[in-house]
Amino acid sequence: MSNVLEIRGLTKHYPVGGAFARSLLHAADDVSLSIAPGETVGLVGESGSGKSTVGRCILRLEEPTSGEILLNGESVVAATSSRLRVMRANMQMVFQDPYDSLNPRIKVGELVAEPLWLSGIMSRKEADRKVAEVFDLVHLPTDTPLRYAHQLSGGQQQRVGIARALATNPDLVVLDEPTSALDVSVQAQIINLLEEIRQRLSPAYLFISHDLSVVSNLSDRVAVMYLGQIVEVGPTDTIFELPGHPYTRGLISAAPVEHPAQQKERLTLLGEPTSPVDPKPGCRLASRCPFVEPKCREGELPLQEITPGHSVRCRRYVEEHVDGVWDPEPTR
Ligand code: ADP
Ligand code: MG
Repeated sequence: MSNVLEIRGLTKHYPVGGAFARSLLHAADDVSLSIAPGETVGLVGESGSGKSTVGRCILRLEEPTSGEILLNGESVVAATSSRLRVMRANMQMVFQDPYDSLNPRIKVGELVAEPLWLSGIMSRKEADRKVAEVFDLVHLPTDTPLRYAHQLSGGQQQRVGIARALATNPDLVVLDEPTSALDVSVQAQIINLLEEIRQRLSPAYLFISHDLSVVSNLSDRVAVMYLGQIVEVGPTDTIFELPGHPYTRGLISAAPVEHPAQQKERLTLLGEPTSPVDPKPGCRLASRCPFVEPKCREGELPLQEITPGHSVRCRRYVEEHVDGVWDPEPTR
């Protein structure tokens, strides 16, 4: 079966530094990623690594600088605005801050129903029935549709956000840090709800989070981003068992909850993320990597496949690993 989502060479650059400056902020650089029907892919990386940019480009809430995005084989990038409206029913987004994403002046039931009948997907009556169905699906009390967002708790607001995303039966849901604004106890409930929905409706999820431990239980595969690039992608167990890229190793070391397959190595990255403005050639982690060598700062560095489905963007790892194992001495 063909992929629900296919991203090829997605690049998003923002001009920065005023009208005459030629500097470019590389929010996303040559990002390629695919998601199969019903699959969950976690997209992780520190704040500012470009995760939301990728999510927003997928739904074309942002125009990519270059690259291709295919939804069920059809170009999102080339779609006309009327075609895009139709395609958007098939890809939905859940945002980090549920309250900000809900109109405070409209009852939450109407908020979910309106796009359905306004777009002509359903009649008004069918839309109301759909609202009752999806609110039930996310376990909200039956009177919730008549309430306003401010009358709901953060967790309930996010359930409304999820209900709204599911109302059009999308093949793909982009979840952009859906639990990051919620209390810890509520976070687990939302994760459980997303898992339950996956089992009942099997949408594909792109689950974006700065926190590897949040995505690890839900994700079939994990893609790790750093300064606009995917530096590693692979099956979740492989990422925890045999992480290749020093950045991934650093993330795993910092993750508060351990994955069953997690290896015990501890790796601390040096310093802070560098600027995504006009990045230098070579590895973007070079200034923070304990294993850096002069060759790491040279030339373009592709994401290279190590085993089927597991790719790493680290020259030393690619050259020096033996059956996925690479245990270098720190160079500084
Ligand atoms: P993440 O979601 O991983 O935290 P983002 O995709 O939000 O990262 O941002 C990636 C980079 O792009 C950051 O350096 C951010 O400051 C920058 N960025 C995002 N949106 C814009 C914009 N509209 N204009 C300029 N820079 C932006
Ligand atoms: Mg973000």
